[in-house]
Amino acid sequence: MGEGVLDAAFARRDGVLHCEDVSAERIAREVGTPTFVYSARVIRERYRRLSSALSGIPHQLHFTLKANSNRAVLTLLRQLGAGADVVSGGELFRAQQAGFAARDILFGGVGKNALELREAVLAGVKLINVESLAELELLSSIAQELGATAAVGLRINPEVLVKTPHAYIATGAKGHKFGIPWDDAMHCAEAALRLPGIELAALDMHLGSQLATVEPYRMGAERIAELAARVTRAGAQLRYVDVGGGLPVSYQSGDPEPDFEGYAAIVGALARETGTELLVEPGRFFVAASGVLLARVLYRKHSGGKDYAIVDAGMNDLLRPSHYDAYHQIDAVRPSGATARLDVVGPVCESGDFLALDREMDDVSPGDLIAVHTAGAYGYVMGSTYNARPRPAEVVVDGPKFAVVTAREQYADLVRLEQSDPVWSDASC
Ligand SMILES: *Cc1c(COP(=O)(O)O)cnc(C)c1O
Repeated sequence: MGEGVLDAAFARRDGVLHCEDVSAERIAREVGTPTFVYSARVIRERYRRLSSALSGIPHQLHFTLKANSNRAVLTLLRQLGAGADVVSGGELFRAQQAGFAARDILFGGVGKNALELREAVLAGVKLINVESLAELELLSSIAQELGATAAVGLRINPEVLVKTPHAYIATGAKGHKFGIPWDDAMHCAEAALRLPGIELAALDMHLGSQLATVEPYRMGAERIAELAARVTRAGAQLRYVDVGGGLPVSYQSGDPEPDFEGYAAIVGALARETGTELLVEPGRFFVAASGVLLARVLYRKHSGGKDYAIVDAGMNDLLRPSHYDAYHQIDAVRPSGATARLDVVGPVCESGDFLALDREMDDVSPGDLIAVHTAGAYGYVMGSTYNARPRPAEVVVDGPKFAVVTAREQYADLVRLEQSDPVWSDASC
């Protein structure tokens, strides 16, 4: 098949797919399948690409952990200079375990509970992005109780028209659960200025993921700028504007590349107009192209006029195809040269368990290895143990070196937290 998303970091040598200088066959032999493999080089390139696009603008890039929260990946990004962006107490824990200082962590999310808010205040995170008046009031009481002042960003829903490849990844349009509705924004800002224990430090938006054009950013930035002027007149001293994530990634040839110039012009103008530092929360853009999921073909089957390749990775390992109808290029690690039209499906007992449908691709036989490309973001992190399938391993490659950074889960791990012999509490006494 054509090269598609293959690039310098994922290329064939002597007919075999390599990640940087390491053969995918070697990794599969030593670590088994399914396994996620990440290229450190791609992550470095992506980080530098975005940071150079924004070089004229005072800014900080905060990697969004929900895209890939492996601590080795996080450490790599931290060493490049990234901060972290987390949406749960668990992600805050992971970020700190990976060495991020609290002052380099943003805490967001639509449903933080009281415990998580308390953890964020106690840690002293850089910014808590608040999504409702009720959350702001709860945070104020928690901060007061702890004798602290929480630096707060208000995540505004600018209610712009957002076009994404799947409805589940649009977040900044009217009526979405995310953010403070535009009409309530000023009212919330006034509350933030009045409430004890709160410093209104930022305005924030996150419009969605895989945004094909910069238009939504332009419209969102206009609204944020307008609101910033109003809250400043009301007495706020904003330190940051946070424009969220959303930069697109190319999953197949022909997908849009980010318009870095257009993007930098919009977000740079916003930072300049508001006199603040720009915060960016990229997730997918930093890691998607860094990863492949290696899997092995178990069987071929012909059924109902269709040809199936049944492989040892399923929807529990990579949910994106079934959850978002997402396209991931799939190649044989050692192509035979023949092609076929295949449904690539996993072992999970669900008809929705597929990695590709009706796909013209390398023909594959039982025992062959395949690579599911662009799987570094929203891959392992969305996995589950459904069907009691142990989670896959994760490997990082750096030049000629590779390391297992998450061991393959074992059967014993599947029952570790369970009690087969219940310890009863008696509610009748
Ligand atoms: C998911 C998310 C991001 C990252 O989005 P990408 O499209 O992966 O860049 C950033 N900020 C918030 C608040 C998010 O929920």
